[in-house]
Amino acid sequence: MAENCIFCKIISGEIPSRRVYENDRVLAFDDINPMAPVHVIIIPKQHIPTLLDMTPENIDIMGDIISAVREVSRIKGVDQKGFRTVINCNEEGGQVIFHLHLHLLGGTKLRDDLG
Ligand code: 5GP
Ligand code: ZN
Repeated sequence: MAENCIFCKIISGEIPSRRVYENDRVLAFDDINPMAPVHVIIIPKQHIPTLLDMTPENIDIMGDIISAVREVSRIKGVDQKGFRTVINCNEEGGQVIFHLHLHLLGGTKLRDDLG
């Protein structure tokens, strides 16, 4: 738990969220400002700031996140038609919240422009 981290507060329940899937290592919840009909954020329960903070000691969490992608895609009914996953890293990558997270976007044909 990192102080002043919005996603740590979502994990603790201090900030409410619409939970989609959860286990002891990861949490998935609906994005508050969805960019697509399905827009879920998947986070590790451990506070890891960015993709570049993955080390041999914590890299296993990426497997847990990818496993959660499968669960969430089925729960949201986008597994057959397809979806997109995005991990933004640092400023030019568009990262605003510095608690590692994966965006799962779907429910429509997504455009290909990267902004
Ligand atoms: P980033 O730009 O850091 O990759 O993505 C952060 C995402 O978190 C954004 O899509 C934003 O809408 C979402 N977000 C920010 N604050 C909250 C919040 O309090 N609750 C939820 N559910 N999503 C949030
Ligand atoms: Zn955090």
